Amino acid sequence: MSKIKKVLIIGSGIAGPITALALRKAGIASTIYEAYPTSADGIGGALTLAPNGLDALRLIGVHKEVAAIGQPISRMVIDNSQGKQLCEFNGLDGSEPSQVVWRSDLNGALADLATKNAIDIVYGRRLVSVSETPAGITAYFADGSSASGDVLIGADGIRSTVRALIDPDAATPEYTGLLGFGGRVPAAGVAGRSDSMHFAFGKEAFLGHWDTPEGETIWFGNLPHETALTAAQARAIPSAHWLVQLRAAYADDQPGCALLARTVPEQLIIVGAAEMLSKVEHWSKGRMVLVGDAVHAPSSSSGQGVSLAAESAVELARCLRDIPDLGSAFAAYERLRRHRVETVAASAAKTNRNKKQRPVAKALMQLLLPLALKTFLTPDKMFGAFHGHRIDWDASVKA
Ligand SMILES: Cc1cc2nc3c(=O)[nH]c(=O)nc-3n(C[C@H](O)[C@H](O)[C@H](O)COP(=O)(O)OP(=O)(O)OC[C@H]3O[C@@H](n4cnc5c(N)ncnc54)[C@H](O)[C@@H]3O)c2cc1C
Repeated sequence: MSKIKKVLIIGSGIAGPITALALRKAGIASTIYEAYPTSADGIGGALTLAPNGLDALRLIGVHKEVAAIGQPISRMVIDNSQGKQLCEFNGLDGSEPSQVVWRSDLNGALADLATKNAIDIVYGRRLVSVSETPAGITAYFADGSSASGDVLIGADGIRSTVRALIDPDAATPEYTGLLGFGGRVPAAGVAGRSDSMHFAFGKEAFLGHWDTPEGETIWFGNLPHETALTAAQARAIPSAHWLVQLRAAYADDQPGCALLARTVPEQLIIVGAAEMLSKVEHWSKGRMVLVGDAVHAPSSSSGQGVSLAAESAVELARCLRDIPDLGSAFAAYERLRRHRVETVAASAAKTNRNKKQRPVAKALMQLLLPLALKTFLTPDKMFGAFHGHRIDWDASVKA
């Protein structure tokens, strides 16, 4: 039984509220402190919750609420640059469909669920520093306020302040060389069915798209770009400018060309630099520990960012529930998670390299892919280790 009375969680993005809900299930109270004055309404693109992430949410009792705001996707299709299907896969046998969800909807829904479960979210509190004593930890915020507790969890995203407080020399995000964009186009009906996510390796750039039951087509793509621009920096440049560049990148591809032609500047979603964080040496120090993108951001190419964040939140709660000594609990958490998250990150880095391949290499890959899928590349081999991961909430974690 845990002796922890209060946990301070820094960041109310995705990992923050999930960690708070998992801790609550473990009988541990927490308060979330978020830098921004409100939840991120309307900001960001779409995220995929894979079966492993959905299962982690089921363990803490919020699966239904999250599935209610998502769109189930049970089929993945890989197309060539002219929209011709190269291959398709259904999910793993016995697995539920993935859910595509808007990041802002997920952020809002998780914040509401936390509040309904008597978890306080204090907005407008940007963590700047901490002080620690043998008895506890105090967080100091940019507005001059402070809060004290037994443990401080950094769920503060890829540019984590807590990570830098744990280790000033900690890894910083690596730019993948790609900027992320998306768009909504009315009634394009490209895919023809709403349970399928399409991925196309175009001549210049990668494009993904899916149709919604309401008849919209949503697309997302990566534009190779020399300099890393944050979402705010990229949004400061007019959408019309980006549309010109995107239309040029997709000029020879279908359906990319058609989708870009129909995208109006107001419907362009600018996500900014695709970044990843592959290896963080120190996951914890004293009473501080990291969760979510703050410690493992595998790049959006993995389709696993949110799902890994949910898994880690649940595993951290189990460790704090079962192991009274904090150092031992954090070590057990890292032992349960490090190998898995670094494997996913390495796989996503490989996908990013494929996205930036020159046309000849892409053509060769497209030629070989159907053969590979007919022979050795089964859905189980491709997704089994990622999508099939399950956590046993009731099993006791040993130090
Ligand atoms: C506004 C926004 C939009 C996003 N859009 C996309 C997208 O379109 N596609 C995609 O793949 N991923 C997107 N992401 C990232 C995605 O949410 C994460 O990869 C993933 O869900 C893991 O979530 P996380 O909670 O660990 O990190 P995040 O979702 O980044 O949440 C971290 C939270 O911590 C807060 N925070 C940061 N520093 C401090 C501080 N010092 N003190 C207090 N609070 C702090 C942030 O404001 C944020 O709310 C977005 C993130 C944000 C913040």
